[in-house]
Amino acid sequence: MKTEVSISCHCTLNSFSIPIPTSSLPLPSRICHCDSCRRSTGSLFNISLPLPNATSSSFPLGTTLRASVDEEGKTTTRWFCVNCGAHMLRERVAADGSGGREWVVRVGVVQGWEKLVKIEAHIFVGNTTDGGGALLLPRLKGGGEDLPLYSEGVGSDRIILPPPSPLPSAFLSSTSPLLVQCLCKQVSLHLSRPSSSSTHLPHPSPSPSQLSSSDSSSNPWWLTILPAHPSSHFMAKACVCTSCTTNSGTPFFPWSYVPLHLLSLSHSSSSTPSSTFVAPFDPRTLDALQSFKNSNNPSDVERFFCKGCGASVFYTQERRAALVDLAVGLFRAEEGARAESWLEWEKAVGYVEDVEESKGEVLEGLVEGMRDVGTGNSTEEENRATRVRKQIGTLNGLFVLFRSIGFIGHFLDQKLLKQPLYRHPSDDFYISFADNSRVVVQPK
Ligand SMILES: [Zn+2]
Ligand SMILES: [Zn+2]
Ligand SMILES: [Zn+2]
Ligand SMILES: [Zn+2]
Repeated sequence: MKTEVSISCHCTLNSFSIPIPTSSLPLPSRICHCDSCRRSTGSLFNISLPLPNATSSSFPLGTTLRASVDEEGKTTTRWFCVNCGAHMLRERVAADGSGGREWVVRVGVVQGWEKLVKIEAHIFVGNTTDGGGALLLPRLKGGGEDLPLYSEGVGSDRIILPPPSPLPSAFLSSTSPLLVQCLCKQVSLHLSRPSSSSTHLPHPSPSPSQLSSSDSSSNPWWLTILPAHPSSHFMAKACVCTSCTTNSGTPFFPWSYVPLHLLSLSHSSSSTPSSTFVAPFDPRTLDALQSFKNSNNPSDVERFFCKGCGASVFYTQERRAALVDLAVGLFRAEEGARAESWLEWEKAVGYVEDVEESKGEVLEGLVEGMRDVGTGNSTEEENRATRVRKQIGTLNGLFVLFRSIGFIGHFLDQKLLKQPLYRHPSDDFYISFADNSRVVVQPK
């Protein structure tokens, strides 16, 4: 018996199904955190479904799928949609030495993928420096046991993630711009640190929720000012909406929100930023970028990906012209893939309702894991506030406990003394509704 697996990119130009023997499901898979997976997609990790019987003739290669070839040794080819940029397939030289090719499909474009794979390990966690997306999935278990985290491939050194701790101040006080670069390096930008003067944007830039609610508060919602830090942080958010996943090929997408005037073009080798962009920004001015507009999305939404490697780069919306959503997977922050000296992660996942029905271990783990993300970044003051909240909770608990003991004691007392609760005789008073007087005690 075979199970037909439906595969479709965001724009549906590449839609096909592949039969997989039902007995082989769920197929073993790993969560890959390697530099190539992050920089080719813009996400923090990727997961693939192995396709044991696939060959190059199984797919529309070269027509609606464009190739991005690995720099080193040309052993790996990634295939993405020519129209929307979704990463769909990867082929590489088979590990068994037969000279054949191995194919995998990226789960972001696979319908109901959580039921088709069994996650066995995190791999290439060493590439992330800070644990990257593995730290966003701390509660992810494989068959009842903690999933192993490997520094590189399966069988390499095991990694144990340290508990969250504050970043060394050297990362926070650094003033050098951040390199934001895709795998093929055709998209290469510099991002400057936010400061108090960056809060004033030349155009209105309402938050995603303000866009729909017409509330236009002047607060810079995209900026977090932590009192203990010399600089503020950009807001970052993990999104699991169907558009983001089918557009990137990854199971979730991490966006940061940055003002255009802090972004500039960089020449990959130099560390000095060239001139910054001015709003309203037109990413079409970058030769390396290809734009995609979906007729199902609001008409002012546009996504941009790298023509060379398919990495998602920007999500823009005309209504907040001074800000762009920038893919976090392209950040090359010294402290690690989560870039916590630059970003304050929102402790919730966006558009969980999109995956509610198909949610399995990985997405459940992500939703739970995001609640604790970045706790190492919070200040002593914030930690104290949490402690005080916990203490208040304890006091409330004790109050309820002693109150209950009091009531029980009172009840037992009455039982022992055979004395019922005092009731005022009902004929002693009446309530008159006619003249609005509340309670009138009958004169004796
Ligand atoms: Zn497409
Ligand atoms: Zn990888
Ligand atoms: Zn690229
Ligand atoms: Zn999204």
